[in-house]
Amino acid sequence: MFAMMESARLEALHLAHDPATGLKAIIAIHNTRLGPALGGCRYLAYPDDESAVRDAIRLAQGMSYKAALAGLEQGGGKAVIIRPPHVDNRGALFEAFGRMIESLKGRYITAVDSGTSSADMDCIAQQTQHVTSTTAAGDPSPHTAMGIYSGIRASALARLGSDDLDGLRVAIQGLGNVGFALAEQLSAAGALLYVSDLDPGRVQLAVEQLGAHPVSGEELLATPCDILAPCGLGGVLNAQTVGELRCAAVAGAANNQLASAEVADELEGRGILYAPDYVINSGGLIYVALKHRGEELPAITAHLARIGRRLTEIYAHAQADKRSPARVADDLAERLLYGA
Ligand code: NAD
Repeated sequence: MFAMMESARLEALHLAHDPATGLKAIIAIHNTRLGPALGGCRYLAYPDDESAVRDAIRLAQGMSYKAALAGLEQGGGKAVIIRPPHVDNRGALFEAFGRMIESLKGRYITAVDSGTSSADMDCIAQQTQHVTSTTAAGDPSPHTAMGIYSGIRASALARLGSDDLDGLRVAIQGLGNVGFALAEQLSAAGALLYVSDLDPGRVQLAVEQLGAHPVSGEELLATPCDILAPCGLGGVLNAQTVGELRCAAVAGAANNQLASAEVADELEGRGILYAPDYVINSGGLIYVALKHRGEELPAITAHLARIGRRLTEIYAHAQADKRSPARVADDLAERLLYGA
């Protein structure tokens, strides 16, 4: 356990068990140098306890990097509730989790993640105020999409010399909450859209409403385009798929797009600009963090616009150092987190 904490530079790990509700929860607090730890709560089944702890630690670390480069006074944390095979009262389980959060006195703030919903956050909110993404707080996805839009403009400027989206060819993989909202914004700006989704209904909607060109799932990554925007699942960029890409830049919402850190160097080697995923997709985090602090929409929107500026800064460093933007982003985040 401590070896895992040491290698991730994790500050604290909290465990709770509540037999009355079946709660088995882990809260990993990675780094609070910039502020209280904020990060989602997963509610999933795990093969064993160690996998759950490992997941919480890995994800908490990622949140620290994301919050630091988003310019938030917020640290990184993550919670995992191990989903029991049967639960009698889901609301009571999440209320018990709320009491666990309350016992940490504001060092960790929770949010929606895989397997949880705003309704679960509402249950947590009955026990603690250290919770975001409740029903009242609203869906962060449109704000994530706004951040991606600003990041696509920065990427087009850096690689193609103009941030005018009129006529820009953008291939979007995944038209979910973020991908579809992004498609709407790009279409309004005159971009040409090439889209795929596992759900043919989503594709049909984009074709009918936005004039998008449908592309099959197998062909999407190899579609000739200016910007490839992965907005489905993570791990889409690996040694094989990087070789197939026919885009000038990759700039999308999916978390953990690179199958391994080395893939960033392969993209760089092919002359494809890569927008580090945790920088470009930080709009949702910015929304929930600032909303939790009571900020109004204009202030939140102004903060979202900084995503593009941060990427421009990262691209300039990367070009000067002849390194991948992903490596530059990690270095910048570590300087903020550890003062190195
Ligand atoms: P979502 O579940 O609403 O949508 C994902 C969509 O991608 C679905 O329609 C799914 O059918 C499609 N998809 C999955 N794999 C695909 C594939 N191989 N080819 C084509 N389509 C595929 O999720 P979302 O909220 O839109 O999030 C999208 C991504 O962005 C996820 O990786 C998520 O972790 C990340 N992200 C989301 C937010 C947010 O605010 N929602 C914030 C940061 C990061």
